[in-house]
Amino acid sequence: MIVCITNDMDNVRPCTVKDQHHENCDGWETRLTDGKYIYTGKECTGCLPRRARHGVLCRPCFEKLEDALGKIPHWLRAMRGVERAVQRDNAGVRSKAGPPIPISPTQLAVDEVWSWYRHIPENVPVWISTGEGGRLAVRFTLAALAAMRSHPEKEHPHPVRRTRCPECGRLQLQWNPPGYFGDRVTVTCQYDDCDAELEQGAFEKVAEIEERHR
Ligand SMILES: [Zn+2]
Ligand SMILES: [Zn+2]
Ligand SMILES: [Zn+2]
Repeated sequence: MIVCITNDMDNVRPCTVKDQHHENCDGWETRLTDGKYIYTGKECTGCLPRRARHGVLCRPCFEKLEDALGKIPHWLRAMRGVERAVQRDNAGVRSKAGPPIPISPTQLAVDEVWSWYRHIPENVPVWISTGEGGRLAVRFTLAALAAMRSHPEKEHPHPVRRTRCPECGRLQLQWNPPGYFGDRVTVTCQYDDCDAELEQGAFEKVAEIEERHR
């Protein structure tokens, strides 16, 4: 039986079956840490390795990989937009004596994810059928999911497409997420000579009435 590659990786939580143990388990948990198995001091809650189902990955590892692969291109694009905006703000400000501009945590996360992501070939099933590919896939997945958790994409203001402004009747409303104008959602009219501004609740009522008319 081929077992999930995480059972053969340094400093990674191995995928095991709960309450099922190796015949040589002594009841205490061990972890492969920097090339050696060391006791963690905790009781073993299951050390029988999970079976590999997709190449050298178990099913949950494969599902997490697919999740990460599906979301990360969009996340990378969104995060680069953030970085570019920051760089633009600094443009033209040159100080010879000042300390270097520190690399932001977002940029570090982007760099780390990218350093794994750029090695991923088109053919994922073939890639994860090898030990080397499988290890890389697990490291990429851990880095990508952690980065997306710590640096979520921010919601940007965007036009409202289907609902007319209740004051001027034009399709010019804009949805402003919290943090844009204060800490609540507001919906404002973008037409120059109209100053309509709606709370989320009021906007939802207007949208609902319009929807019923259609
Ligand atoms: Zn055990
Ligand atoms: Zn696994
Ligand atoms: Zn208006």
